[in-house]
Amino acid sequence: MSRTALTFLPRALSAAFRPARVASNHHRVPLRAKTIASSASASSPSNPNPNHEGVTSIAMELKSANKAHGGEVRKYTHASSSTGTDMTFSVYVPPAAALSPVPVIYYLSGLTCTDDNATQKGGAFKACADAGVMMVFPDTSPRGAGVAGEDDAYDLGTGAGFYVDATSAPWSANYKMYSYVTKELPALIEANLPAARGLKSITGHSMGGHGALTIAFKNPTEYAAVSAFAPIVNPSAVPWGKKAFETYLGSAEAGKDHDACELLKKRGAAFPEFADVLVDQGLDDQFLTEQLKPENLEAVAKEVGQKVSVRRHAGFDHSYFFISSFMEDHVKFHAKALASKAQAMADAVDVTADPALLAEFAKTAGKDIECNAAVAWGPKQPLTNEVVIVAPPKAGEVRVKVISNALCHTDIYTLDGHDPEGLFPCILGHEAGAIVESVGPGVTSVKPGDHVIPCYTPQCNAPACIFCASPKTNLCPTIRSTQGAGVMPDGTSRFTAKKDGTVINHFMGCSTFSEYSVIAEISAAKINPRMPLNKACLFGCGVSTGLGAVWNTCKVEAGASVAVFGLGAVGLAVVQAAKMAGAGRIIGVDLNEDKFAIASRLGCTDVVCPNDHEGIPIQSVIVGMTKWGVDYSFDCTGNVEVMRSALECAHRGWGESCVIGVAASGKEIATRPFQLVTGRVWKGTAFGGWKSRSAVPKLVERSLAGELPVDHYVTHAIDAKGGDVAGATNEAIHALHGGDCLRAVVTYHK
Ligand code: NAD
Ligand code: ZN
Repeated sequence: MSRTALTFLPRALSAAFRPARVASNHHRVPLRAKTIASSASASSPSNPNPNHEGVTSIAMELKSANKAHGGEVRKYTHASSSTGTDMTFSVYVPPAAALSPVPVIYYLSGLTCTDDNATQKGGAFKACADAGVMMVFPDTSPRGAGVAGEDDAYDLGTGAGFYVDATSAPWSANYKMYSYVTKELPALIEANLPAARGLKSITGHSMGGHGALTIAFKNPTEYAAVSAFAPIVNPSAVPWGKKAFETYLGSAEAGKDHDACELLKKRGAAFPEFADVLVDQGLDDQFLTEQLKPENLEAVAKEVGQKVSVRRHAGFDHSYFFISSFMEDHVKFHAKALASKAQAMADAVDVTADPALLAEFAKTAGKDIECNAAVAWGPKQPLTNEVVIVAPPKAGEVRVKVISNALCHTDIYTLDGHDPEGLFPCILGHEAGAIVESVGPGVTSVKPGDHVIPCYTPQCNAPACIFCASPKTNLCPTIRSTQGAGVMPDGTSRFTAKKDGTVINHFMGCSTFSEYSVIAEISAAKINPRMPLNKACLFGCGVSTGLGAVWNTCKVEAGASVAVFGLGAVGLAVVQAAKMAGAGRIIGVDLNEDKFAIASRLGCTDVVCPNDHEGIPIQSVIVGMTKWGVDYSFDCTGNVEVMRSALECAHRGWGESCVIGVAASGKEIATRPFQLVTGRVWKGTAFGGWKSRSAVPKLVERSLAGELPVDHYVTHAIDAKGGDVAGATNEAIHALHGGDCLRAVVTYHK
């Protein structure tokens, strides 16, 4: 094969594109032991993407990782089944991926490039970090495959891969870049990295532009969007493309199936599949008239009604100076399409209540239900699994099938006997996701099949309720006295132990450590059923509380400085909310340094361990870091000494300190009055100030829309196997005491 037969790039320019080409000769390194293998278990917390239960034994090896714009650029190798060689690719993982899976843009490079060219010169990271998307940079071909002639020309074979599956020998054994890019690589990425399943789009440069356009046009439902930089839009009509198609596929005719113009023509009016196709083209590009021919694409697209926006830029050539100049526009273009695809995917989920479930509910309505529950018989006694009889709901009540329950400290606080008003025996639990099984007389706001979050702070919305009517509070007192007395509003319990008829108390108006429970209608927040209940439960207490403390109780404003004491789920929700509110500096304080990594990912700019400052009050450390103290501070520990520190590190003149933690019984807070005289404000919050029934459904919607990721709070997922609610809950309590737990979610019913 002659090097000069088809000179796609002038030698001077191609040299600029090819540094990694030299390295390719010693590319074939055996995969070492340090691999990332996806877990087959969906509930394993070590699985980076629990979407992917079915995927096993896809391994890849991390070669390097570099921080960039809050995220990380990583280089991996893996043994490819498509090409039969080791393949290398790079990926930019944006900071948002620390919270929940993100969409992915595939960037296909051009002739003589490797993944390094685009990562080092493409200028994509800031835009990807801002948009919360991952970008994957595959290599341009197999390397070291051993195919005769593959290293003879830079425009064919090694480094010049063409995004097709070769059918002609000897290329057909390894040159399968189409399968690699469309199937193998996405599966690998989705299994091993926090990539949202089915949310991908594609772009590319030059030959990679040909790859992006043809791959998208051949698989329009799989890619949310397609764009390209100086793409080869009509390869079967230009000499370079003809040669490649003849070599790989046997004929230029066969290449029409990998030619963007031909694909559009063939699909005809079946297009448009894409709202728009963005193409950028430099007018000083030396290949413009001979090889690229964007006008061919425009003409066919017009014929078939596919919108294509070719933007022509004077003064730009074919280089990475051109690519990096327009990269941000492309990332934004893809991010927008990916977001609307995510929305469409969510909307497509069937949200009508399962008829089988409704039939099951119809059978039990109005009757006692026998089910498993974890009963607390007395303070400091382990929960035992009991069959309990759950009576049907009375007027204004709702019986719910509890699906999942996240353990909160308040449950343990009561179980440990710290709550002087704790009543035993009782069924604890108050952070749950449930489905309405039946409703009592007069209940109109929910019906069987509705998904609800039981809320320990109810919202009666009665015209006479001055609390519900006031925007200043969420503390509706309507059922407060009976809730505190462990009974329903009529003064009786709905729970009886089957074994001996003991009447069992309710707890916080929820009692969700039971497969079925009865709650007041005014305690049931009806949520979007698309939200999985094993995550929705988080909004029942701790996470909502932390968010509300920032947004409602303190109304933290952009640029403010914040200190958060205690980085459990509540404190981390404060950090997350403060970050979303645009706080400038967020100082996280915890005795347990293991919390610092997640706290930093969520938004802490500084993390402080009091043990590192022995002898110095922690408030002095924080005042020292900020000159006059922080604008807002939050206690998320429940320790009254910490509450004092939080107040005293608040800014002279205006600092506000919010008590969220629940203190042990009998404890009191203290400070010198001078602290308040000099302008500090001490306040507190219950359930973050949210009016539960109106606010919780909106928080769930925001989470579904991707604005409020919560997956990171679930560090432990436990199934109550065989109805052993108590066994699973005891396991969750054990996890919560372990120090590495944010929330342990127990699922009772699938
Ligand atoms: P958690 O135990 O998971 O987190 C508490 C964190 O504080 C831990 O990381 C711990 O290491 C840290 N900590 C303990 N002592 C500390 C100290 N002296 N200095 C610095 N850090 C310290 O608890 P959580 O689930 O996040 O709940 C936090 C508090 O909020 C609890 O008291 C809980 O009862 C309370 N809470 C209140 C409301 C409300 O409506 N006000 C709602 C939910 C939870
Ligand atoms: Zn009320």
